[in-house]
Amino acid sequence: PNLNSDWELAQAKVGQWDMDVYDGKGRYDMVRDYVSGGGDPDKVLSALEKAGLLGMGGAGGRAYLKWGDVMRAEGTTGEKFVVCNADESEPGTFKDREILLAAPHLTIEGMIIAALVTGATRGWIYIRHEYPEQIQKCREEIDRAVALGACGRNIFGSSRSFELDVFPSPGGYICGEQTALIEAMEDKRAEPRNRPPELMTNGLYDQPTLLSNVETFAWAPAILKDGGQWFADQGIKDGPLTKGSSERMTGKRLFSISGDLNRPGVYEVPTGTTLGQLIDDHCGGMKQGKSIAAVALSGPSGGLLPAKIPVQYLNRRFVEANVPADVKEIDIRDLPLDINVSRAVGYMLGAGIVIYGEGCNVLSEAVANSNFYRKESCGKCVPCRIGSEKITEMGKRLLDGDVDESELATMQPIAMQLSGVMQATSICGLGQVASNPFQTFLTYFPDAARAACKKKS
Ligand code: SF4
Repeated sequence: PNLNSDWELAQAKVGQWDMDVYDGKGRYDMVRDYVSGGGDPDKVLSALEKAGLLGMGGAGGRAYLKWGDVMRAEGTTGEKFVVCNADESEPGTFKDREILLAAPHLTIEGMIIAALVTGATRGWIYIRHEYPEQIQKCREEIDRAVALGACGRNIFGSSRSFELDVFPSPGGYICGEQTALIEAMEDKRAEPRNRPPELMTNGLYDQPTLLSNVETFAWAPAILKDGGQWFADQGIKDGPLTKGSSERMTGKRLFSISGDLNRPGVYEVPTGTTLGQLIDDHCGGMKQGKSIAAVALSGPSGGLLPAKIPVQYLNRRFVEANVPADVKEIDIRDLPLDINVSRAVGYMLGAGIVIYGEGCNVLSEAVANSNFYRKESCGKCVPCRIGSEKITEMGKRLLDGDVDESELATMQPIAMQLSGVMQATSICGLGQVASNPFQTFLTYFPDAARAACKKKS
């Protein structure tokens, strides 16, 4: 890759984002303010609380609660750690790649502030090894931060220290799962741990550990500079499917969006923006004016949704509050990009969105995605190891035209049942979502499923 041009391109883009609080000029002012002001962790926590900042890695927990838990936790050795999860292995998700290429100082500054607040003295950026340019940029930026006195020993002349390093991930989807990541850092096989205990009390080397996503850390400098209220005010509160919702996501966030679009890429948008607005206003619309065949709103984890979602599959309370009684389906373009709304209404929302245009073989995509999870399963627990195999096998048989309509009628409930068992009994998120691509295909694309059967006759 042409590192310079990739870097320049990404830097120009990041410079337009509200996240880049320094507009490309200066860095680490918030660290300097913190130590010169005597260091008040409660002030930082209250800014994060007012901002409503959620974890941007998928789980969407409240940042201030996690930071506060680590701050209050007492380990057995007195050591605490801050780890940034830059493994970013969900298919279709590539926003952290852009942040770390063009503005690693934002994430690093957020990590230093987190360390000062929680009392951590060591930290790592755990980053996928397929990101060599970002690894290089992170290393350069850590050296720069140390040279400026913002990181390392005696931060800005204070008695506080934070040693930061880069840890290239050994590779594989599961290496980004939060507890498997900690196992990998301890030089063990990257298999998820049972929880509890949580990482905030028993993380790396069994000590309190704050683990967060690249973007979550990267927003901290802007929130401290411009205030929690400034961030909170960025989100869009009104829109489709929002009546009856007491909890809304706040601020802006980054989405990576790809597929049949004129301008796929990474965009910083206010939360609550609808999918249609993201496609039309930022991505320049659908490629060749195609219609939408399917959408993966959370990479393939949340499965594949159709252009029109039958309301029977959505939360009844929300449907009654937002959709006229005679309307039987909603347009996927109207879904707000808000993790709180998505949870309440009944769809999964992540940071990576894939748009499949008309003409796409949705069954083939569903099977490819199921197969991805099957191959990436670490095999530690039976429901995921065997279940992902079974689901993929069903999909492949349907794709090969090896299923007739009477068998298809029984396949749907079997897939639902298997999916339920996997969700309830798998140790980690991979097993809980592995069935989604094929199970959602059977649910939302019955005509395509029947059409696949006809090949046999
Ligand atoms: Fe491993 Fe799958 Fe179990 Fe997760 S759910 S621990 S990936 S076997």
